[in-house]
Amino acid sequence: MSIILQSLALDRWVEPSSGFVDIPSAVDGHVVARASSAGLDFVAMVRHAREVGGPALRKLTFHQRADRLRSLAAYVSERKERLYKLAGDTGATRRDNAIDIEGGLGTLSAYASRGRRELPDAAFVVEGDVEGLSKGGTFVGQHILSPLHGVAAHINAFNFPCWGLLEKFAPAFLAGVPVIAKPATATAYVTEALVRLMHESGSLPPGSLQLICGSTGNLLDLLGGQDVISFTGSIETSEKLRNHPNIARHSIRFVAERDSLNASLLGPDVEPSQPEFDLFVREIVREMIAKTGQKCTAIRRILVPRAQEAAAIAALKTALSAVKLGDPRTEDKVMGPLVSRAQRESVREQIAKLAGETEIVFGDPNHCEGAGIDTKAGAFIGPVLLRATDPMSARRVHDTEAFGPVATVLAYDNLDQAIELIARGEGSLVASLFTYDAKVAAAVVLGIAPFHGRVLIVDRDCAKESTGHGSPMPSLLHGGPGRAGGGEELGGMRAVYHYMQRTAVQASPGRLSSLTGSWLKGAPTPIAEVHPFKRNFDQLQVGDTIETASRPITLADIEHFAEFTGDNFYAHMDEAAAKANPFFPGRVAHGYLILAFAAGLFVDPAPGPLLANYGLDNLRFLKPVSPDDVIRVRLTVKQKSPARKPEYGEVRWDVEVVNQNNEPVARYDLLTMSARAA
Ligand code: NAP
Repeated sequence: MSIILQSLALDRWVEPSSGFVDIPSAVDGHVVARASSAGLDFVAMVRHAREVGGPALRKLTFHQRADRLRSLAAYVSERKERLYKLAGDTGATRRDNAIDIEGGLGTLSAYASRGRRELPDAAFVVEGDVEGLSKGGTFVGQHILSPLHGVAAHINAFNFPCWGLLEKFAPAFLAGVPVIAKPATATAYVTEALVRLMHESGSLPPGSLQLICGSTGNLLDLLGGQDVISFTGSIETSEKLRNHPNIARHSIRFVAERDSLNASLLGPDVEPSQPEFDLFVREIVREMIAKTGQKCTAIRRILVPRAQEAAAIAALKTALSAVKLGDPRTEDKVMGPLVSRAQRESVREQIAKLAGETEIVFGDPNHCEGAGIDTKAGAFIGPVLLRATDPMSARRVHDTEAFGPVATVLAYDNLDQAIELIARGEGSLVASLFTYDAKVAAAVVLGIAPFHGRVLIVDRDCAKESTGHGSPMPSLLHGGPGRAGGGEELGGMRAVYHYMQRTAVQASPGRLSSLTGSWLKGAPTPIAEVHPFKRNFDQLQVGDTIETASRPITLADIEHFAEFTGDNFYAHMDEAAAKANPFFPGRVAHGYLILAFAAGLFVDPAPGPLLANYGLDNLRFLKPVSPDDVIRVRLTVKQKSPARKPEYGEVRWDVEVVNQNNEPVARYDLLTMSARAA
C-alpha cells in the first residue's frame, strides 16, 4: 500500500486530494508513495513563517536555539530506524543511508556545538574588531549580524533526503530564520518521515519548519528581500530558478549547489607498488558505488599518469568486478539501484553523449546482473568505467554528468596538463590528490584550488583517518565555484551568517558598548567602589574599572626574574647587546615580568567569587619597560558570558598596563570564571 504524503503547513499536516504524482520504489517499481502540493496555501505558509516562525525563533538566543538543535538530534536519533526502513526503497543500502541519516543528525549536533561555542548567548553577533573612525576616539564603527526577518526556502535534491534537509535547516534555525523545505519528489517519503519526527519532538518553535511535498507552486513569486533561497539540484533547474524575475527584482539571496565533475588525481610520483596507488583505486571504487554514484561529490574524472594508465585501469576493473548488485532492503554488501528508472535513462543518455570521445573499459550501461534483482522493474545499473581516447581533445567529459556509478579515466603526460584538464571542469565541489611528494602536492593545490571548494590530499600518513573524497564536513566549506553553483554556504559558521544581515553601526564607544554589551576603549569606566574580584558574576557591570597603585621595576627585579625563571635573554641581561638591538633602548624588563607584576597589582588575594584565571587573549607588548620605570594597571570588565554550568560565568577583562607617562606598555584580555549569585 502506498502512502499519501502530507505537507506540514502552518504547523498542521495537510493531506492533498488531487494532482498526485506516483513515487515508485527504485528496487521493484511498486508505488511507495504519492505526492501532491495541490491545495496548499503558499501565501499563508510564507506569512506564517514570517509572522509566527521568525518572531518565535528570534525570542530565543543562539544558545537556546543550539540547545533545541541538540534535542532534535537526540529525539530523531532514538527513532531513526523508521527512516532506515523507508529509505530502502530509494535504492540506497544501509551503509548509504547511514551517510544520509547519521550524517544529517551529525550535522545537527555539529551546529548545536558550534552555536554554543562560537556564538554568544544573545540575539545578534558582533563581528570583528571595532574600527576607529576619528582622531579623538569618540566615534567608532562595528559590524553586527542580525537574523533576517524572512523565510529560508530550501529546495533539495533527491539523493540525500535527510542530510540534504538537515544541512540547510541547522544553520538557518541557528541563525533564527524559519524554513520552508521542499524535498525532491523521488525520495520525499523519507524526508516527510524525518520532518514528522522533528515536528513531534516538541523542539521546534511554531512556524520554524514547514514542508512542501510536491511542487513549489507560486512560492517563488511570494518571496522578497528578507528571504533566502537555497537550491540543490541540476544545473538546468538552477538556471531556471536563478533567472526567475521575482528573485532578480528583489535581490533575493540565492545559493545553488549543483552538478560537479569532480576529479581525482594520481600523482606522477606514484607507482603501483606504493600505498598511494591502492588508496587511489579504493577511493575511486568507493566513490563510484556509494549511493550508486548519485552523490554530488562523487569522482567523475580519474586522472592518471600515462605511464600508469594500464595498471590503474586493470586495478579498477578488478575491484569493480567484485561489486555485487542487489536489493538494498535485504542485503547490505551490495550496490543498490539508481533512484528511479527515469534516472537510469538519464545516466544511459549521458554515457551515450560521451561515446564520441571515450570507450567503455568496464561494464555495460544496458545490461547488468545480480542475484534476485529485477532489472526491468527496478532501476539497476552496474558500474561503468570509461576511458578518454584522446584526453587533451575531449570536451564533453568535462561538462557531462552521468549521475550514477560512472567515471572516466583520463591519462596525462605532465602535471601542467593534469591541472589544465581538471580546470576544464569549470568549477567543482571537490578534488582529491594521491601523492607522497610535497612538491607535487603544492603544485597541484595551487593549480586547482581556484576551481574548487575543497581539495583533499591523501597519502599513507593520513589515509586511515581521512574522511574521504565524498564527505563534506559541517565544519568546512561545502560548495564550489562556477559549474558547482558558486555557493559556499553549506558548512561552518558562514552557513549561519548567510541567513543574517551584516550591518555597520557607527556611534560613540559608550553607545556601542551598551548596544553590544561589550566594553570598548573610550567608553565610560566607572571606578568600582568595591574591588571587582569581590563581586560575583551577577553583580559585575560591564565597564566596572579599578586603577591600581604604582610599582617601580628595578634592575634588581629584572635580574631576580631572570635568575628565577632561567630566562637570561640578552635584552634583559646585557646592556651593550640590548642597545644594539633596534627595538630596545638598553636592558629592558621581561614581558612576562610585566604580566606577573601586573597580576600582583590587580589581584585581590582573599578567597572570593573569582574562581580561576583561564587564559589571556590578544596580548601585545606595546612599549619596552626600562629599569626604574613605574607601572600601574587599569582593569575593566569587558564582557560577561554565562558558562554552560549555572554556578559560574565567564568574565573577560580589559587589562591595560601603563608607565609613569601614562603610555600603554602592555594590553590584553584576561579571562576568568566568576561564581554566580547563590
Ligand atoms: P533537479 O531535477 O534539478 O531537482 C532538484 C530540486 O528542484 C527538486 O526538489 C525538484 O523537485 C526541484 N525543482 C525542479 N524544478 C523546479 C521548479 N521549476 N521550481 C522549483 N523547484 C523545482 O535535480 P535532481 O535530479 O533532484 O538532483 C540531481 C542533481 O543534483 C545532480 O545533477 C547533482 O549533481 C545535483 N546535486 C548537487 C549537490 C551539491 O551539493 N552540489 C548535491 C546533491 C545533488 P521535484 O523533485 O519535485 O521535481
